[in-house]
Amino acid sequence: MTREMRSAISGVAIPADMPRHMFIGGRHVDAANGDRIETIDPATGKVFADVPAATVGDVDAAVADSRAALRGAWRDTLPVERGRILARAAALIRRDAERLAIIETLDSGKPLAESRGDVATTAGYFEYYAGMADKLQGDSIPLGPDYMSFTLHEPVGVTAHIIPWNFPLVTTARGVAPALAAGNTAIVKPATQTPLTALALADLLAEAGLPAGVYNAVTGRGSTIGDALVGHSGVDHVTFTGSVPTGINVMKVAADRVTSVTLELGGKSPVAVLADADLDAAVEGTLKAIYLNAGQVCSAGSRLVVDRKVHAAMLERLVQRANQLSVGHGLSDPKLGPLVSDSHRRAVAGYVDAARARGISIAAGGKPVEVPGFEGGYFYAPTILDQVSSQDPVIQEEIFGPVLSVQVVDSAEEAIAVANDTPFGLCAGIYTRDITRALRFAREVDAGQIFINQYFAGGVATPFGGTKLSGFGREKGLAALAAYYQVKCITARI
Ligand code: NAP
Repeated sequence: MTREMRSAISGVAIPADMPRHMFIGGRHVDAANGDRIETIDPATGKVFADVPAATVGDVDAAVADSRAALRGAWRDTLPVERGRILARAAALIRRDAERLAIIETLDSGKPLAESRGDVATTAGYFEYYAGMADKLQGDSIPLGPDYMSFTLHEPVGVTAHIIPWNFPLVTTARGVAPALAAGNTAIVKPATQTPLTALALADLLAEAGLPAGVYNAVTGRGSTIGDALVGHSGVDHVTFTGSVPTGINVMKVAADRVTSVTLELGGKSPVAVLADADLDAAVEGTLKAIYLNAGQVCSAGSRLVVDRKVHAAMLERLVQRANQLSVGHGLSDPKLGPLVSDSHRRAVAGYVDAARARGISIAAGGKPVEVPGFEGGYFYAPTILDQVSSQDPVIQEEIFGPVLSVQVVDSAEEAIAVANDTPFGLCAGIYTRDITRALRFAREVDAGQIFINQYFAGGVATPFGGTKLSGFGREKGLAALAAYYQVKCITARI
């Protein structure tokens, strides 16, 4: 860490130089009208930084600069050189990892260990796609002796990336790294609650040698600039990660210009635990599945679908462990940080309070937590709701907080039926020693990712995306690149 520090929370030094400007066309800029948005540390409820509140005019400027960079500097940069720049960016992200992690924790509330993991994964995305920049090659098509036919993989163009608050930096990298590798330019709109690391990333990409205008970060409210960005005639693809209602709106606005979209939306993912499972692994896996980032994870395992024969044993161990999990300021590196905002904590509490009123058993938590010294923070206890029926709202709707709902089943077949019985299809996990049952579950459950005996197994290289209301399109791995190139077929009569 090279920069001057401002003060410390829990002994962790806070960088003095928080990002303050948008990054458009290679310049640090304010909003055209000078307006700003404050960003709050969710563990204190206090403002700790502010960023420009972009106008529609600022979006127009970002699109214009992005288009100029596409046609000139970036599209025609040698693919191997594009890869080198992305690899240098990865190294710079690792160099500044601690600063980025601290900023991410202050902005989002997540525990420092999780932010450090997110920064490492961010560097991993740039490394992975750096290696792909010069390998996006097409096919030759055998039409016989009188023709020569082949395909080119050309960049889609200007790509917009709309980012949620729960994984700000890593979601930015997940879309931007493959987009840039394939020769596209990018405009990032981070969430209003967590704008800082998308701005910090801009400086590192510029230092790595990325030409001006190739990566632009525009901070502003989605309600003000979202439609203008998505519906802009100069935007060729939109990668949206966020809630179902906003995703539907994005798709409708993009449809007016027949702009392609990738939608990564919500989830209500099941963790199935069969009677023959390794219960130690199942308990650890379930805790991580629901309490990572205080449950504010699209792929969270928010439903435990457990065989009746091991229900009591699983519940007892989960309750004991949930009650012991530390809750505190993210910089003190607890197991759970705060929820992102007061309104979000009220929404989570509302689900639990309504479940309690319906007579559902609250086996653990079920209330806000006061952390001494951080009374203004938005903390909520790790919560377990037991024996919930399939049609209950806490099963059918995404709570997006540290709330696990337990569903009891009597067979592997019922586990599959229950796993499928929501409008979502993002992830599903299963714990069993029976490989046949595991693979049958994997085949029968309608979801984009299946985890067998380790929830969240995989990483940068494993394709990720949803079915049903969880969205469509794939990110991560080689599959992500398909959104960022278009296939042009050239055929010659010879
Ligand atoms: P959200 O309210 O939909 O916001 C997501 C992003 O959309 C934010 O940047 C937001 O900007 C922006 N936005 C708002 N209105 C818009 C508009 N009219 N046009 C374009 N963009 C607009 O979702 P969230 O509450 O931030 O995130 C939580 C949701 O994201 C959960 O449902 C979760 O499951 C989902 N998620 C999914 C994945 C995945 O990969 N599948 C990953 C993470 C999160 P403002 O912040 O300025 O409003």
